[in-house]
Amino acid sequence: MMLSGTVIVDAGTVLDDGCVVVEGSHIEAVGPREELLDRYPNHERRAYDLLMPGLVGAHVHSVQSLGRGIADDLELLDWLFEYVLPMEASLSAEEMEVAAKLGYLEMIESGTTTCIDHLSVNHADRAFEAAGELGIRGVLGKVLMDQRSPAGLLEGADEGLAESERLIERYHGAFDDRIRYAVTPRFAVSCTEECLRGARELADAHEGVRIHTHASENRSEIATVEGETGLRNIHWLDEVGLTGEDVVLAHCVHTDESEREVLAETGTHVTHCPSSNMKLASGIAPIEDYRERGINVAIGNDGPPCNNTLDPFTEMRQGSLLQKVDRLDPVAASASQLFEMATINGARAAGFEELGALREGWRADIVGLTTDLTRATPLHDPLSHLVYGAHGDDVVLSMVDGRVLLEDGELTTADADAIREDAREVVLSLDEHREAADRVRP
Ligand SMILES: [Zn+2]
Repeated sequence: MMLSGTVIVDAGTVLDDGCVVVEGSHIEAVGPREELLDRYPNHERRAYDLLMPGLVGAHVHSVQSLGRGIADDLELLDWLFEYVLPMEASLSAEEMEVAAKLGYLEMIESGTTTCIDHLSVNHADRAFEAAGELGIRGVLGKVLMDQRSPAGLLEGADEGLAESERLIERYHGAFDDRIRYAVTPRFAVSCTEECLRGARELADAHEGVRIHTHASENRSEIATVEGETGLRNIHWLDEVGLTGEDVVLAHCVHTDESEREVLAETGTHVTHCPSSNMKLASGIAPIEDYRERGINVAIGNDGPPCNNTLDPFTEMRQGSLLQKVDRLDPVAASASQLFEMATINGARAAGFEELGALREGWRADIVGLTTDLTRATPLHDPLSHLVYGAHGDDVVLSMVDGRVLLEDGELTTADADAIREDAREVVLSLDEHREAADRVRP
């Protein structure tokens, strides 16, 4: 297949009249359209306004999709313990599948082709199967919670780690290696030392398995961990083995100098979630500082209850603007830096090689957008448009491993109308679960 248009190869390279040739699951060639038309005269041709690498959502909660709008404008602990966790606890296996499908549908529709997905404690199989069916690439993990957790989510460390191992054996490398596993403690507050150390042991026992958790999102979390362990949160995670090149930490909003040194020295990846940090008033993650230290910073939408969309273009824009305001410096966090966070940096965090740019021999994860929009006129600078002006709705093509998942804006791998209809029905039945779960706040 031959895709032509303005090609964003990576943050530093734009081909105005370019072309990407896809063979099987990989990119066969990238270059000027005229030249490749001669070299590949018999390939099926498709034209787009803009082509770019598929975006990487490096911290999302697909299974929270049914909680969109249930907990706006609330204090974090109310948000978490009275709404989000009870919602997760209440979901049946069927509802979890609906939630996951809704999340993957929204991601595929809006240009995210790879996600690092923090699932829930229960029914993780349904999300793995949904990701496989819809065709997205992802690093997914069942959540571990063995203390300070509401009924329905609290699970012993041994039990949670054993279930994680079963899922690793079943799904790590599944669906032609599009799906991989991350051992996923919720955060240090809800996990014992035994659980956190066990997470490291489990990841070490299986090649390519990553570790993904939340870290230093808000001050009360840090105070709780410090009160219990005597250590700052990142030092505690480092102590129990949860730092390193295979570890992705979401947020890292509140870190001190010594914690930042640990992140840099260990090669730990950080996922910045600007919309979530703003909506929950968590603070501003110092991502410019992280970047200057050589820490790999990716970007993610977090979950629908704290965002409320999974549109990755919004996140690039917010991420840039927030740093500029924080530093009172309009030069900070440029469009190309944010684009790198959402592509190549995200691919590095997820651990997929040859992903995050449109290069010969790399994986054919490609997104196409329309720019036939008032909002995109005139189009002086395609990269500027993608970061500051584009919306997920502009996406018309999503491809993973050379397989078209979205064509003319329509999902090809499942019935999108049916997914939305199923989701509407589940939301209607959530109220009674929520009422019952409200009582379990610690
Ligand atoms: Zn999160």
